[in-house]
Amino acid sequence: MTPLSPAFRALSVTTVTIGILATAVVLPGAAVADTIDPAADIFPAVGTSDFDVEHYDVQMDYRANDDISVVTTITASAAATLDTIRLDFEGLTVDTVTVDGVAATFAREDDKGATLHKLVVTPAAPVSGDFTVTVEYRGAPGTHEDPDGSFEGWMPTSGGVVALGQPVGTMTWLPSNNTPSDKATYDIEVTAPTQTDARDLSVASSGDLVGQEPVDADRTRWSWHVGTPLSTSMLVLAVGHYDIQNSTITLASGRVLPEWSFVTADASDEDKALVASMRGRIASMLDWLETKLGPYPGESTGLIYDYANVGYALETQDRPFFDGGIDEATLLHELTHMWLGNSVSPRTWSEIWLSEGGASFFESYYAWQVREQSDPRDLAAQAVGPDGDPDIWEVPTVGWTDPAQLFGNQSYVRGSYVYSALMNAVGPDGFDRIMRAWTKEHGGSSVVTEDFLALANEVSGRDLSRTLVQWISSDTPPAVPEDIVSFEPLTAETTVGTAPVLPTEVTPNYKSGPGTPASVTWDTADADWSTPGTVTLTGSGTDFFGAPFTTASLVVTVSAPASPSPTESATPSPSSAALPHTLSATGAKPATVPLIAALSLLIGGAVILVAARRRRKVD
Ligand SMILES: [Zn+2]
Repeated sequence: MTPLSPAFRALSVTTVTIGILATAVVLPGAAVADTIDPAADIFPAVGTSDFDVEHYDVQMDYRANDDISVVTTITASAAATLDTIRLDFEGLTVDTVTVDGVAATFAREDDKGATLHKLVVTPAAPVSGDFTVTVEYRGAPGTHEDPDGSFEGWMPTSGGVVALGQPVGTMTWLPSNNTPSDKATYDIEVTAPTQTDARDLSVASSGDLVGQEPVDADRTRWSWHVGTPLSTSMLVLAVGHYDIQNSTITLASGRVLPEWSFVTADASDEDKALVASMRGRIASMLDWLETKLGPYPGESTGLIYDYANVGYALETQDRPFFDGGIDEATLLHELTHMWLGNSVSPRTWSEIWLSEGGASFFESYYAWQVREQSDPRDLAAQAVGPDGDPDIWEVPTVGWTDPAQLFGNQSYVRGSYVYSALMNAVGPDGFDRIMRAWTKEHGGSSVVTEDFLALANEVSGRDLSRTLVQWISSDTPPAVPEDIVSFEPLTAETTVGTAPVLPTEVTPNYKSGPGTPASVTWDTADADWSTPGTVTLTGSGTDFFGAPFTTASLVVTVSAPASPSPTESATPSPSSAALPHTLSATGAKPATVPLIAALSLLIGGAVILVAARRRRKVD
């Protein structure tokens, strides 16, 4: 989804036009876990895991946008025995319900404040395994108002209707298991007047147009088939006076896609020309997206352009919907959702940042690669820079609980920062590898945030969780992942014949300054403490961003043992520092990091001083 108007939902991410800001690495703030638990569903009353829908067969008689009658047959399976079948359904009048062909009783439950609208079906006998439910219903479908005050569902237009379903609006016209975690195939057959107001009427949906047959002198049956499992939220149905544009698109991968676009005849010539130019970019955008995200997961392509006055564009499957406005970034955003959102779906709407953050980030990614605009890695740098919005850290991308926040900045803007941070950590090629694996591994299913972290770690071979969790959850500005350029110099001392006490941490320096100290393992295999001089050790470890390093170094001075004077006491001098010391870091955001500034140990009568250095800002 992309809001077109700031009045509804959230503002989209604007392309960053400034360069990387000269800020020091910001040390992470409050400690957070390295894993993200699945968030509680913000719509707990919508959808069920009692059964899994495999197919919806919809036979609609459309007389007008306020007068339909429908027979919908749902094919589903239940793992356990069900005494009742709870479908999501809002409005309309139900006439009959059968289960496996046998009449069933039914009741309605509605609680608008709880987003609860149910058709509760009680079959003549309990069901388990595969079963079918057939619902006959009629009336004037309604719109659905979301907790944030925006509208979806059955949205009347001047020529007919556009039915939009994110997050829950499809239940205004289709009894269903209305959750993004239940995907099914569809046959949508709509019999509609061939003409209204002396103009041709058309019916658009997702999938393939498999039939367009006159049923009598005045009516035409439009048949759409969706063969790739899809959640109800991304199914579209549109009826209107459309100019239909049908073509064949051959992608660079060799795949041939049918294109059906539906543009309202009410659009101005200027708008029609704009839409035509955007249609012309679909093929190249899909080509580019295939290089980033793998094979296109849709069955056809195109777009729907009409005036539903919802104030947002929506990634309806195969044919995204544009509400009286379209531009390149929005088209790219909605096409990206075919992979991120429609194919790889959030398990609940509480995890929507995975798709909205991704689609928003890909707007910038495309603008960088194709339009030579700013590097999308700058998004993360800008976020923590002086021009960044400090309020953005108040709401985590996942873990917020108010349904009215669904389309908030944390989903789009902060969500895009997480992807930007990931690209900063692993580079564009590493990012592409992760994203292609993401769609390959999870395409056609639904996911939670932890799945993304696990896959990013697996594909990169790094532990990226610690830094990504900061970008997802921290209430203070996180550190932008960077490559290590050097380490703060370290020295140690010992006497001949005695192994030195070695520092356990090193401080990596990044282009923007010193970062979080990292645990280090020193290679002492060939170290020789038997003669005076210096020994240089090499250290390895993993930095805060999960990047392995092998180039830390430590110079150990080995000196001859002093001959103690009988009057001298072999105890640490008073000037030896107590431990631990607390030093202020020199990052942009002050933070305190406990360091062992100096350590005096008495071993075998010799004082060993391990020197530590204050960390310095690197220009
Ligand atoms: Zn979106």
